[in-house]
Amino acid sequence: MPDLDARLSAARLAVTDAALVCRSVQADLASVRAELKDDRSPVTVADWASQAVVVRRLYRELGEQTIVGEEDAEALRQPEQGALREHVLRAVRLVWPEAGMDEVLDAIDVAGSGARPRAEGFWTLDPIDGTKGFLRGEQYAVSLGWIEGSRPRVGALGCPNLSSDFERPFDAPDQHGIVFWAAAERGVRQAPADRPGASAESLQVEERPADDPPRVCQSVEKAHSNTGGTARLMEHLGIDRHAALDSQAKYAVVARRQADAYLRLPTRRGYSERIWDHAAGSLVASEAGCVVSDVRGRGLDFGQGRGLDANLGVICASERLHPALLEAAALLGLDREPPEA
Ligand code: AMP
Ligand code: MG
Repeated sequence: MPDLDARLSAARLAVTDAALVCRSVQADLASVRAELKDDRSPVTVADWASQAVVVRRLYRELGEQTIVGEEDAEALRQPEQGALREHVLRAVRLVWPEAGMDEVLDAIDVAGSGARPRAEGFWTLDPIDGTKGFLRGEQYAVSLGWIEGSRPRVGALGCPNLSSDFERPFDAPDQHGIVFWAAAERGVRQAPADRPGASAESLQVEERPADDPPRVCQSVEKAHSNTGGTARLMEHLGIDRHAALDSQAKYAVVARRQADAYLRLPTRRGYSERIWDHAAGSLVASEAGCVVSDVRGRGLDFGQGRGLDANLGVICASERLHPALLEAAALLGLDREPPEA
């Protein structure tokens, strides 16, 4: 079995490969859309290409692995999808120049719907988290986590449009982006997303001054988080600074204290959060000293299959703010399952 260090370095390489691929598709958004005559096509291309290069890199560095990803190649294999396949192959070849079409399709399927979480450990992958952000040219992420014993032990989070400049608005994509990676009890490191050979820096966290007004972030998509509940909770605590951005970049933003909390209050009964939407991000945040729990204060349990079935929503915050958020959530009844729609 590869050790934690081997997994960590492979995860960084895999996510950096995927970030390069995603950046290249994003740089070409308009022409991919025009050629494939479909508004969503760029994210489809990048999603598949990202999954293929992550799988290939993990296999190359570590040998055969169990990888539970969000996508599989069934739709891509359909005879009428020739143009789409060509775009995926072109994107993949940026980091895997000798790739053939069959190898790419097989790599995607390795992490497809047939892959099952294993008690001994497994990878979980969201090749593009925040698809809407990707399509708007705003924030999105590539997220890869290694789960063992119901918890993420290794995570790499690529945020290709996130700036190292805290003043830069989230909807203004950065020229370089950032990849973060972390392992349990070892802290977080980061490097620019556009330079695979760049040296790693430790994420140095500076707690914000106690008299600085807190700032909260949540999803852009109204369907993904109870925005009304967030507004009530903020009002209750007298917090008036808010940011909306897509993807697990929110975890990174809290990890580096650009914001004090990420709130994901449940929107509908029966939805359980997907493990790949939280594995890497929650590890990066907790390794940076943040507290990550669900809305009732329970730790996230990644040992339930493809969903966080034992949890409800997510509250990620600095140690200082987390208790107040939990208390307010309970007081306002936001710790309960939403009623039937
Ligand atoms: P975000 O970019 O933070 O809004 O989150 C994107 C993720 O939200 C996607 O990867 C989906 O898996 C997930 N998602 C889809 N439906 C819901 C829902 N009803 N509640 C919470 N998350 C959802
Ligand atoms: Mg996702």
